[in-house]
Amino acid sequence: MLKLNDPSLLRQQAYIDGAWCDAAEGHTVDVINPATGAALGTVPHMGQQETRRAIEAANAAWPAWRKKTARERALVLRKWNDLMLENVDDLAAIMTAEQGKPLAESKGEVAYAASFLEWFGEQAKRIEGDTLEAPARDRRIVVTREPIGVCAAITPWNFPAAMITRKVGPALAAGCPIVLKPAELTPYSALALAVLAERAGVPKGVFSVVIGDAKAIGTEMCANPVVRKLSFTGSTQVGRVLMEQCAPTVKKLSLELGGNAPFIVFDDADLDAAVEGAIASKYRNMGQTCVCANRLYVQDGVYDAFAEKLAAAVAKLQVGNGMDAGVTQGPLIEEKAVVKVEQHVADALSKGARLLLGGKRHELGHSFFQPTVLADVTPQMLLAREETFGPVAPLFRFKTEDEVVALANDTEFGLAAYFYSRDIGRVWRVAEHLETGMVGVNTGLISNEIAPFGGVKQSGLGREGSKYGMDDYLVVKYICMGGI
Ligand code: ADP
Repeated sequence: MLKLNDPSLLRQQAYIDGAWCDAAEGHTVDVINPATGAALGTVPHMGQQETRRAIEAANAAWPAWRKKTARERALVLRKWNDLMLENVDDLAAIMTAEQGKPLAESKGEVAYAASFLEWFGEQAKRIEGDTLEAPARDRRIVVTREPIGVCAAITPWNFPAAMITRKVGPALAAGCPIVLKPAELTPYSALALAVLAERAGVPKGVFSVVIGDAKAIGTEMCANPVVRKLSFTGSTQVGRVLMEQCAPTVKKLSLELGGNAPFIVFDDADLDAAVEGAIASKYRNMGQTCVCANRLYVQDGVYDAFAEKLAAAVAKLQVGNGMDAGVTQGPLIEEKAVVKVEQHVADALSKGARLLLGGKRHELGHSFFQPTVLADVTPQMLLAREETFGPVAPLFRFKTEDEVVALANDTEFGLAAYFYSRDIGRVWRVAEHLETGMVGVNTGLISNEIAPFGGVKQSGLGREGSKYGMDDYLVVKYICMGGI
């Protein structure tokens, strides 16, 4: 069993209406450590009935929560942020145990996750309206912004804490209660957050965590008319289903879906900086982020030099159990993920790609995979079209700026893009022509609580984090004052 400073942070029950509870029918499922294959414990396997109860509790808790002043809500979020930071070691240990990422990355994520609580707590005080010039002298036009109502959130396993606070933070700040369904593979991080929420003074019903059958829980969240907004982070495929399921009740939706990020290295780039950025963007979390570089386009003149430097840097990555010191690459989340990576590599090799490094399952077994670099990759290969979600860097060759912008945009996705160049004219041109919601110029890391995170095209709707992230949890009300 996991050793924690505060063992009460590891909860094996769900959290509904301020109470820790089991599934109505007593079902549980195991939570697995991907680095060892061992069960860490169990969690309840819930469904529609428990979800409905959590939604009803949220609705009952809403009037009192929205009535609080912004400052009162901000203080609760601030306290929750502080408790996360005080418990960073335990939260990181739980995260690494259930998700696999190296402990240093888990600690980084806990701080990143907490920052959304702090940021949105501060933003709560800046929810502002307008007064507008009326067309008649006896009228006044006032615009206010109100909490949208009961919210629901569905989050993935790749950032087991940050994807939660990025939704729950703005919901609570805006005055909305929220029901969360975390990924079934990483429920303990979500439950530890609920323990701290309770300690921070989040009232019962304002934040509930339901765990179990994704389809049953998701269906209830989408169909229940009490829920006014759904925020989802996950695959485009599931996002489409949820959008359809939300149509009958016309819910407001935030969708943060798949990506297929291009990472472009121009001839004039600082190659060492580009290699460093590529490692950060491609191999963080073993390549399992939706903003990971998925296609690396390298200009002809620097292709061979970049490939050599990148392969040398990737060869230095340390694969192992994320709990162990010095490890930079943990296991992939599960066997299914390894199979997809293997398919992408095999498809590329069969179509003429050249293996520079790795390419196989790692000798550590389980879901470990060797950090891999492939050269001579072409648009005909699966790697070019689908998100690999694994530690594979495919290198495409290009000649001109126009050509690479067209290649980069030739995808239904539009989340993040990165490029390296020192020509200021090119920097502006390319940044403006890339069809994505986010662009990293001369950097491979772009996420923080202050900046708007989100995509265009089939990468999603809405923005998370930043001052824009609050809008998704608010509705605009126009009050027309007549007879003055
Ligand atoms: P990935 O596992 O690739 O990140 P998914 O979209 O499968 O992406 O999973 C993201 C989240 O969506 C998880 O919490 C998962 O349980 C949930 N999920 C998967 N299928 C459904 C569904 N049909 N309805 C609601 N939620 C779902």
